Amino acid sequence: MRVDCQCGAQAVVSRSERTNPTTADLYCSCKKPECGHSFISTLGFKHSLNTSASFPAGLSLGAYVQGTRIFCGCGKKAVIQKTNRLSSNVSDLYCQCECGHRFVMFRAHSHTLSPSALTTEALTMAIIQSVTPSVRRSLHQQLALF
Ligand SMILES: [Zn+2]
Ligand SMILES: [Zn+2]
Repeated sequence: MRVDCQCGAQAVVSRSERTNPTTADLYCSCKKPECGHSFISTLGFKHSLNTSASFPAGLSLGAYVQGTRIFCGCGKKAVIQKTNRLSSNVSDLYCQCECGHRFVMFRAHSHTLSPSALTTEALTMAIIQSVTPSVRRSLHQQLALF
């Protein structure tokens, strides 16, 4: 399972916690030491792609997450065939099981545990550059107090 940090580097999934039968929270941390971003990403079952006629029999659950892997409702490990990034925080994962079940999982950024030093710095710089000179002067005075 590949999870990307907001800084563009890859993140490592340290553990996962199931929040309901088909959804889990993944605890991720960025591989880049200077970033240090750790966050929770939610991974869960969205919907099946099979039509009811081609839907495998005996599937009580669409799909579920165990550890950092996606399992089909039949109990076999599913393969991610395609990742469709909908926004910087949300992706659809197209999965296929050998039983014939095809389905979509979603992955969404849930919340940040500790912010990225890189994005915080970039954000701060962007704010400073966007303010008027008078605000910048008062900001400078405020910072001088530290
Ligand atoms: Zn990062
Ligand atoms: Zn299956």
